[in-house]
Amino acid sequence: MVGFMENIQTIDSVCTYCGVGCDIAAHVKDNKIQKIFAHPDGVVSQGKLCIKGKYGFDFVDSKERLRTPRIKKSFLEKNPSIKEAILSSLLDYDDVWYESDLDGATTASAMKLKEVQQKHGRKSVASIGGARTSCESVYLFQKFTRHTLNSPHVDNCARVCHSPSLKGMRTTIGEGAATNPYNDIYNCEFMIVIGSNTIEAHPIIANRIVEVAQKHDNMAVFDVREIKLHKFAKYKAIMPHEANLLVLNMLAHVIISEELYDESFIAERTKGFLEFKEKILNDPYANPKFFERLEGYEYLAKMIPKVAREYALKKSMIFWGLGITEHTDGSYAVMAITHLSLMTGNIGKSGAGLMPLRGQNNVQGACDMGMLPYYDPDYQSPKEIGLMTPQLVDEMLEGRLKAVLNMGEDLMHIHPNINKIEKALQNVEFIMVQELFMTEIASRADIVIGVKSAYEKTGVYINAMRRLHLSQPLVESDLPDDWDVIQLLDNKMGGESAYKNSNEIWDEVREVAYRRFSGASYTRLQRHRKRGLQWPVHTEDTPILHQLDFRTDDGLGEFCYHQYGLRNMIKEILDKNLSGYYLTTGRTIAMYNNSAQTKQTLSLMDRYDEDLLLVNEGDASDFRGERVILKSKNGQTTPLRIKFTSKVEPKTLFVTFHHADSKVNALFGDESDELILTAAFKSIKVEVVNL
Ligand code: SF4
Repeated sequence: MVGFMENIQTIDSVCTYCGVGCDIAAHVKDNKIQKIFAHPDGVVSQGKLCIKGKYGFDFVDSKERLRTPRIKKSFLEKNPSIKEAILSSLLDYDDVWYESDLDGATTASAMKLKEVQQKHGRKSVASIGGARTSCESVYLFQKFTRHTLNSPHVDNCARVCHSPSLKGMRTTIGEGAATNPYNDIYNCEFMIVIGSNTIEAHPIIANRIVEVAQKHDNMAVFDVREIKLHKFAKYKAIMPHEANLLVLNMLAHVIISEELYDESFIAERTKGFLEFKEKILNDPYANPKFFERLEGYEYLAKMIPKVAREYALKKSMIFWGLGITEHTDGSYAVMAITHLSLMTGNIGKSGAGLMPLRGQNNVQGACDMGMLPYYDPDYQSPKEIGLMTPQLVDEMLEGRLKAVLNMGEDLMHIHPNINKIEKALQNVEFIMVQELFMTEIASRADIVIGVKSAYEKTGVYINAMRRLHLSQPLVESDLPDDWDVIQLLDNKMGGESAYKNSNEIWDEVREVAYRRFSGASYTRLQRHRKRGLQWPVHTEDTPILHQLDFRTDDGLGEFCYHQYGLRNMIKEILDKNLSGYYLTTGRTIAMYNNSAQTKQTLSLMDRYDEDLLLVNEGDASDFRGERVILKSKNGQTTPLRIKFTSKVEPKTLFVTFHHADSKVNALFGDESDELILTAAFKSIKVEVVNL
């Protein structure tokens, strides 16, 4: 939709924030966004946006935007031949930075990258990022790295969020993506939400879930703290920390021991069930009666069988978020979720399925484009497998990785172990960052290039239900798109990249990743703007996956049992020795991740200008004053403001990590998913230091 009204243009596009991917419309006057609202015909947004989508656009015109490339003075002092080569493009900016033009900045980058690779080898360079930019830019980023730089090291921020969903789902059903459209929620008869604070993190999906739960009283919500969604739950389950796999295996145990499974579905569509059945029936932790021994959680022994029965006998969906994936057993927990759908046939049809709630606006697309060290575009096998981000950090520390290219990912804020990363970054010779703002990682870079935001460019974004949305610019900008910068760099490194526009890149994506995107031309995406197209898109698109077979090699879903291993908090409860505090982290509705964009909107900042620490009221005597520091073996926070509440359990704490100055992610170390190295952000024992 593009319209005019009193010099106000109305332009439609897609929200730049979370993975829900709401359809938006904007009023634009004199190249300035006046207002953003839900697209009246929006199939995703359904007439509503959350406060981020609605108000969070001040970043576009912010004075803080990076408008001119910057090169660090100290970098050019150490590299006089580079300085000499680009001297005419340099302007003094401040004590730390020169300003440059794009040609000068990319020439300097190319010269340094060549030098680094000559000295330290082709694999001494890595590219990280891309879940917040378009598919076209991500595709080119990984192509440039793999082909022109000839380095296998590419990764994106799915490493700190849903990589375990990809791993767990691909292992069991062959595809790491949501199985159904959001509107299928209206067709389901029972819902399990586990490890997802949906109302705050995915609000517009939550609207549907709440509507259905209020009407049918058909939802179970599992979390380690009381979240807003619990208010609408029939089964309100608060679990101890690190009990996801335990609870999920228990649900499977009930379904098997009470023979509630779908025998014909299992026989026709799956393999490995008999072995799985035997293992689960003999697993002492899989029997819900285990909870009878766990003081404070005894009620779960009775609740879990009830949830399992409703799930198995009804058309059911399961929703999960980072509360599942950000654990040492995250991938195994995702496999345990898929087991439930495989044994009951709750997959491959409307109203039944699996819904990982993905975070970034294009994290699904970034993975689809091959911005992962172990997949080429379309999840094809790469010629050479690269390293995952935590391994790359170790490579930096050990002196093998010497240059980092970073596109829109704040390695120094949203990753764990930020003290270790800080040291690692000091050990590299070159960092280049493409960004909107001077983020934590940008301030540590040698070269920073300001780029277009999502509201200033054309490109494909893929949301949490595999829906492709061709985003169009709301306003014009002179800044380069991410892919423009990469193309320039590619040419200066000897590559032959020569795309005239994003459409040409996308057409190449459709050829390379033809199994998903062959039929998704720009023209067709424009034509189907309203409903959107869900991949795979060929002659038809695919709203529901796995209807006839699974996307595994043999078409069968596979049971891959993993036994739960006792975790710290549960051990302490069993031993009647619960001491100290367990912390979990998460998000709040007003802020988005590292808050680079949301903190530019005053009304959002007014709602949440610092990371708050939630503490159970009963634990108040351990906390003196208004603020405390949290400490772990890896690092410590700055003083955090305390809020006492009944919404977290005794001896547990909750804090957000949106504001870099709180240094919450310094608490987390190398503990991560066993298979895929996603940081265990959801549970850590911390010491409380009163000031
Ligand atoms: Fe944007 Fe997500 Fe809010 Fe929708 S739910 S308006 S996509 S932030």
